[in-house]
Amino acid sequence: METLSASQIAQIDQKHIWHPYSSLTDPIPAYQVDRAEGVRLYLNDGRSLIDGMSSWWCAIHGYNHPQLNEAARTQLGKMAHVMFGGITHEPAARLASQLVELTPAGLDKVFLSDSGSVSVEVAMKMAVQFWQSQGRGEKHRFLALRNGYHGDTFGTMSVCDPVTGMHHLFSDVLSRQLFAPAPACPFDAPCREEDIAEFRHLIETHHNELAAVILEPVTQGAGGMRFYSPEYLKRVRELCDRHDVLLITDEIATGFGRTGKLFACEWAEVTPDILCLGKALTGGYLTLAATLCTEKVSNGICLGEAGVFMHGPTFMGNPLACAVANASIRLLLDSDWHRQVCRIEKGLAEHLAPARKLAGTRDVRVLGAIGVVELHEPVDLGTIQRHFVDAGIWVRPFGKLVYLMPPYVISDAELEQLCSAMLGVLARNT
Ligand SMILES: *Cc1c(COP(=O)(O)O)cnc(C)c1O
Repeated sequence: METLSASQIAQIDQKHIWHPYSSLTDPIPAYQVDRAEGVRLYLNDGRSLIDGMSSWWCAIHGYNHPQLNEAARTQLGKMAHVMFGGITHEPAARLASQLVELTPAGLDKVFLSDSGSVSVEVAMKMAVQFWQSQGRGEKHRFLALRNGYHGDTFGTMSVCDPVTGMHHLFSDVLSRQLFAPAPACPFDAPCREEDIAEFRHLIETHHNELAAVILEPVTQGAGGMRFYSPEYLKRVRELCDRHDVLLITDEIATGFGRTGKLFACEWAEVTPDILCLGKALTGGYLTLAATLCTEKVSNGICLGEAGVFMHGPTFMGNPLACAVANASIRLLLDSDWHRQVCRIEKGLAEHLAPARKLAGTRDVRVLGAIGVVELHEPVDLGTIQRHFVDAGIWVRPFGKLVYLMPPYVISDAELEQLCSAMLGVLARNT
């Protein structure tokens, strides 16, 4: 096959290709990446960038990792894919048992799917089918948090923040869910009665129609990059129990160590009824997600009228993705990931602190390997993206949020360089 020149690629891209949340009539140029290795992305023009995004929370071990490559190659020599209906295989079995072992006790049943959004759809469907099986079909709504993000498909959109999720564009199509205010209690503060009051009121008033509460534990990601008190999560669990409402925790962004615990639920020692995983599950290699639930939920569904859980994606349990996920988890557990994440937390706190002095800065916050600079005004994405690239870093802000979540393997020197380059750009552009 003839290779495409850089300008051919750029032309095709601008003419034909959608990018995430993009316009085709007023496109922002996309940078051409030829290869990636460790914490660096290599552009086609010879420049290399330090990656501050882990490709949206995924690439925790960095890019082009020899052990992950090897796992993919070995599995490829056996089979890339085989249907999951009526068939099982070692990569899926190994992954399921590993996930059951690592996640909070009681989450024993694993549904594998192909993306985070689908895993949330699956979780929501599980909750609805569960209550149907209990003869409580009227319990089919969801209580979510403002500033939450759970995906881009219709079901998940309905539980995303109504404003940042642009519900007005789809108001006739989306199911109407209930929203509690985003938790106001900071990560290291207690949860006061007033912090949970509105949530309590909503669940007390609506529990008869609620299938589940859905939230991102302790860290709200794409809907606002906010951290909140684990005590809030504890209170949510208690209220769910008291009012017979299931709890779905979406750990697609927080799972696999990002917040400083393997799973963010652990900060509150809370076990959800249903848990969603994705993103870093394969170390950023392939698209794969998992929805775990308790036996109470699975028994309810399977002993009910339908007798089966009504979902089954074509690429369910994809062996290639499962094999890489197994290698990624092994790599994580064999590494000193906790020390790495604490080291990054310290580095981010130290090197992002000077951003507090910038006129454009509203807040600076850090938890685990996540560092956030919140500005007063939204950035001009096209412009600031170019400045970041010129400064040798890959950072992709949204709105007023400029944030970092680097691969855990980033060195202290690279982290310092990443932060200081980012602050330099912000100082000149906000
Ligand atoms: C990214 C994300 C999703 C959606 O996952 P996709 O793989 O993009 O469909 C859902 N929930 C959270 C918390 C996420 O960060």
